[in-house]
Amino acid sequence: MADDISSPPSSRRNVLQGMAAGLVTAAAAAPAAADAADSPGDAAPTAAPLVNPETRYPRPPFPRQSQPWPGLAGKMDPRPDHGEKSYRGSGRLAGRKALITGGDSGIGRAAAIAYAREGADVAIAYLPQEEPDAKEVIALIREAGRKAVAIPGDLRDEQYCKDLVAKAHAELGGLDILVSNAGRQVHQASIVDITTEQFDETFRTNIYALFFLARAAIPLMPPGSAIIATASVNAFSPSEILLDYSATKGAIVALVKSLAKQMVHKGIRVNAVAPGPFWTALQVSGGQTQDHIHQFGAETPMGRAGQPAELAPVYVLLASAEASYITGQVYAASGGTGVG
Ligand code: NAD
Ligand code: MG
Repeated sequence: MADDISSPPSSRRNVLQGMAAGLVTAAAAAPAAADAADSPGDAAPTAAPLVNPETRYPRPPFPRQSQPWPGLAGKMDPRPDHGEKSYRGSGRLAGRKALITGGDSGIGRAAAIAYAREGADVAIAYLPQEEPDAKEVIALIREAGRKAVAIPGDLRDEQYCKDLVAKAHAELGGLDILVSNAGRQVHQASIVDITTEQFDETFRTNIYALFFLARAAIPLMPPGSAIIATASVNAFSPSEILLDYSATKGAIVALVKSLAKQMVHKGIRVNAVAPGPFWTALQVSGGQTQDHIHQFGAETPMGRAGQPAELAPVYVLLASAEASYITGQVYAASGGTGVG
């Protein structure tokens, strides 16, 4: 496992004991010692050092860098923090069965690590080119003592989406959490530069796949299940260089809010997460210009990019039984910008 970018190892006790009601404690804690990963299912112990969120992680400027799409987290500089060394579970998702698309890297990977350490069995979906990242996640899920299922394929393909849900359900022995998180983002300065092919691919990946997956999964999901979609701040404050992408993220928010109402009487909660700028492969594989990469996150009040580990507690909360009154909601995390 490569180093993450968090601060140097600290004591195992350097884990938060408790934070504000509702959000998970451990993921928000100071990065724990490498030995913490040896028994990640342990309940959080005592001392809880305060961590200043403004200075917790690297700030821009970041090195300019570009990878061929879809990119690998393992080749980013600095490497993102997905909570590999810091996330500590406390049984909040014990026995749950989760499918996470884009679970190999970035935000999906942070959710996969957290879910496993909270006691869930996890299936991850990703593109075949992302096998090196996916292998690391599969190993981390198994290290947490949970079942890991790898189901590579292309979400633009409706049949794959159907097969993915069926396979995850069969191999996990059930399905009660669906995280539709995979996404495609290609920056273009002008609408006249966006080809019909790009527009189509962005919509197929970001919104069609959510529809295909949710439609296939819902008949299999028992009451108490949760669906979580990854939207974006771009649903509310669309970037001028992300026209097609922003349109899909707005569509995700509307779909989630509508589906949440439909699902109330089936006992399935449906929510979205709207991240601000997070340091992930999507951004360095065509998602942003090099100037944006260099200054990534500088425009936020906090002045830095978010790290995927900082979103894991939100995905845990929205999946957990404790969030039983939370549905049709969009949960943002954007370094102080505020959303909505
Ligand atoms: P990421 O590149 O690590 O994850 C995106 C994943 O999407 C990839 O790993 C890949 O497995 C998957 N994917 C893309 N196209 C696919 C396809 N055709 N078939 C199968 N899988 C495919 O980047 P991330 O930032 O963690 O992205 C996760 C989600 O977060 C996306 O929906 C993205 O739009 C959203 N988001 C990211 C940010 C950010 O700043 N990073 C901000 C707001 C929203
Ligand atoms: Mg990836």
